[in-house]
Amino acid sequence: MNNIFSNAISFIKENLSITYSLFLVILIPVAFFINSYLINSNYEKNIDKIMQKKAVLVENTINTLIQNQFSDMPAIQSSIDRIMNDNKEIISLSILKPQEGGEEFEIIASGNKNIIGQKQEGQTQNLLAWNNPEGIAFLDRGNDGRFWEVTKSLSDISGKKIGLIDMSFSLKESDALINKTINDSNLILILTILFVILLIANQARLLGYVLTVTKLKEVDKMKDMFISMASHELRSPLTAIKGYLDLLKTEKDAAMVGHYIENISLSAQRLNNLVEDVLEVSRIEGNRLPIEMTIFDPGPIISQSLEEMRYSAMQKGLALNYVSPQTVLQIKADQDRFKQVLVNLISNAIKYTEKGAISVSVVVKKDKFLITVADTGIGMSTEDQANLFQKFYRIKNDYTKNVIGTGLGLWITLELIKRMQGKITVESIEGVGSHFTVHLPLASK
Ligand code: ADP
Repeated sequence: MNNIFSNAISFIKENLSITYSLFLVILIPVAFFINSYLINSNYEKNIDKIMQKKAVLVENTINTLIQNQFSDMPAIQSSIDRIMNDNKEIISLSILKPQEGGEEFEIIASGNKNIIGQKQEGQTQNLLAWNNPEGIAFLDRGNDGRFWEVTKSLSDISGKKIGLIDMSFSLKESDALINKTINDSNLILILTILFVILLIANQARLLGYVLTVTKLKEVDKMKDMFISMASHELRSPLTAIKGYLDLLKTEKDAAMVGHYIENISLSAQRLNNLVEDVLEVSRIEGNRLPIEMTIFDPGPIISQSLEEMRYSAMQKGLALNYVSPQTVLQIKADQDRFKQVLVNLISNAIKYTEKGAISVSVVVKKDKFLITVADTGIGMSTEDQANLFQKFYRIKNDYTKNVIGTGLGLWITLELIKRMQGKITVESIEGVGSHFTVHLPLASK
């Protein structure tokens, strides 16, 4: 987790412009969305306020009219017609007069001539408005969309209630306007998102370039390391071969001749190892490494590998032990590659052990076959363990500087194991020894 976090921080630091652009492409649509949301909700609030104001205006106009000429019905009716004509959003406007008893109201003037003279008895809306000086107003929905229903009492100059005004304001047009704004802003939002997606796609390409450049830099570094390693590793055995050959030209002593030839052979072997490792790396990287997974008993291959390595161990005075499993096992791997891995690990154990023993042991854990190569060698720090499987990685200390190596062996080993669906783990203590364990699938699975 911490690793991911620190990787992200270093990515941001190294690619400030990309991070900034990514931040922008996320911010733009979010800001746009919030903006259109705020505009729309404000718009709705404003429309409601406009309607309320209009209702108050109409009510005041009518009230003034009524206060002056309540008996002049034709004048009131013509005012209603005019108001309705001028304000298309008013869908109904009626004046009601209370009847004796106070429960019943008669429509005395209305925009709808057909209902003039109708009596409304016990209508809650009328009764509430009559008893509440503020009047009542509520939002409702009909076949023609949303509308405001407003009912309020009218009073004469002395303040005595003389009637009711009942109005309906249609929100159809304003709602249509709001919907249009919402649709328009949705369209623009979609276009913005599309635009942002295009930007991101472009950024992704940019990111691809950045990754390629980083990779190229890495390859370049690797190449430099390789050239310096290869030139050093090539030069020393070649110089040795040339030197011993020069000595051989004049050497008469048979024992010395034998010694020189032995050294030439060692240097040639060293050159051969280097060329082999480099070729193997190039095969693995170019995916040209054939892996043939078969089911086999690893016992004979383990014994064979031990026999091949016994001489080198003996030369250094190291014991080479094998703890074989009680039962015959069947594993699934590539036989040649399995042997190569084992020989690599045993050869390293011998190379990096001064005294003591190398032990190879096998155990079965769940569905896995585990083979461990343990030594009593120089061991390594936890930091080195973490870098061990990198290409060209060699631990530098007084002991290793005298050991011939390319730093490619463990990288090759890891790649081979991965291709056989296995894994490798290492446990090591400096000055005590190392345990390399290869995990491979058992055949039954
Ligand atoms: P090399 O050719 O240098 O042996 P490897 O990739 O096989 O390359 O190993 C990388 C480095 O890991 C070695 O240089 C050595 O320092 C360290 N190493 C490998 N195996 C052992 C071991 N068994 N004990 C201690 N150090 C080891």
